[in-house]
Amino acid sequence: MAATARTVIIEEHGGPEKLKLADLPVGEPGPGEIRIRHAACGLNFIDCYQRSGLYPMTLPHALGMEAAGIVEAVGEGVSHLAAGDRAAYAAMPPGAYTEARVMPAAQVCKLPEGIPFEEGAAMMLKGMTVQYLFHRTTPLKAGDTVLFHAAAGGVGLIACQWAKSEGIRLIGTAGSDEKCALALEHGADACINYATEDWVAQVRDLTGGKGVDAVMDSVGKATFEGSLDCLKPLGMMMSFGNASGAVEAFNLGLLAQKGSLKVTRPTLFTHIADHDACQEMAATLFSKVLAGEVKIRIDQRFPLEDVAEAHRVLEARRTTGQTILTLS
Ligand code: NDP
Repeated sequence: MAATARTVIIEEHGGPEKLKLADLPVGEPGPGEIRIRHAACGLNFIDCYQRSGLYPMTLPHALGMEAAGIVEAVGEGVSHLAAGDRAAYAAMPPGAYTEARVMPAAQVCKLPEGIPFEEGAAMMLKGMTVQYLFHRTTPLKAGDTVLFHAAAGGVGLIACQWAKSEGIRLIGTAGSDEKCALALEHGADACINYATEDWVAQVRDLTGGKGVDAVMDSVGKATFEGSLDCLKPLGMMMSFGNASGAVEAFNLGLLAQKGSLKVTRPTLFTHIADHDACQEMAATLFSKVLAGEVKIRIDQRFPLEDVAEAHRVLEARRTTGQTILTLS
């Protein structure tokens, strides 16, 4: 085992130029920990928030929230994993952009043989997010309609397929006609180019004036108010990201005026904090992927040392589907 691992860190918040490679020591796992050697790491928009300081961290800090690889050693009290297991995870604390690390074991899951490492690395954070949005946030059933923004992105393409597999009608939005076509190919029932179209009016038309049962909005500032206008009375707004900036404070009375709406601002990390819940959510995701109901589409691969370029491309809205960092 190499005693150090190439790891992406930031010493201060800022743009992609703040991402640096460092050789960090990798020790032995303590109680409740494992040491894992990564085969690939996933790239997520949350990594950009942590890098920029929108989600502040104590510095210096390593970055990255999901990866897949081989467990090399397990600490005392870890019973669900053993040395030699294939594994994948979405987990805190950040530090997944690395060749190898010691980390808490609770959120690390055995990766089924039928799922390649690269897919495992690309799908844990985004896939379990889709799982909790559809199953753990508000009751949704076949025949319900949801509006999903950024439908051709990493979380988005998984959501399109997930909805299709459960008979939920998904109306997507995306920033270009090409991205809309991709969302439609992956199971969206309709997709609106929100860069050029009046998407609120179109959602109203597509629902016969009624509005949707739920909105899944990770775009944030630019779409929040319009999203509320797309909901039917008693509908659920899931504001789960800030790609365009954080949602500003708003008058709660708006929710009454627009029909007793509900709003939640969830994060995956509450849902997977419990070990059993996390393992169960991962099992549901794996079964969807193994059944072919959800395909993990990796459209961008960057070597670990090109992580700054990967962040630039993601933030410039030039990605579709999943993006991973490869390790040589
Ligand atoms: P994506 O691949 O979806 O990339 C983000 C997309 O957001 C872009 O491609 C772009 O699509 C759209 N977007 C809209 N406005 C902007 C803007 N101003 N700048 C940049 N992008 C913009 O990323 P991920 O799949 O990694 O994540 C999707 C979202 O889900 C993120 O906001 C992320 O933070 C959130 N998330 C939240 C979680 C939670 O539990 N709360 C967990 C996982 C992800 P287009 O060009 O089509 O507009």
